[in-house]
Amino acid sequence: MSSIFTKIIAREIPSEIVYEQENIIVIKDIQPKAKTHLLIIPKKEIPTINDLDESDRELIAEMFFVAKKVAKQLHIDQGYQLHFNVGKKGGQEVMHIHLHLLSEI
Ligand code: AMP
Repeated sequence: MSSIFTKIIAREIPSEIVYEQENIIVIKDIQPKAKTHLLIIPKKEIPTINDLDESDRELIAEMFFVAKKVAKQLHIDQGYQLHFNVGKKGGQEVMHIHLHLLSEI
């Protein structure tokens, strides 16, 4: 079964899309925990960071470059947080990796 993020990427369910490029989409978190709360999501459905393999190196790096780019575009690049939750016991609810970007600016 596809993750909720795969459904968002496929436009099967609505979401506020902030940015998109070939392999990555950025959406607004539906339950923001900061003034700005975005999710940087690879289109490839990888359940958790523990499931990464060598071929995902570039994709993971790209996620951080997208974070940098979007933070600059939104003028929040003076201060923000980036984090991954890993596994149910690490607070991960959606089993499709995503980088949280949070800012109070
Ligand atoms: P995590 O706990 O790291 O798996 O984070 C999942 C995040 O996805 C949470 O912050 C949720 O609020 C967010 N979320 C869940 N469903 C949606 C959705 N349909 N659109 C946007 N964000 C969502």
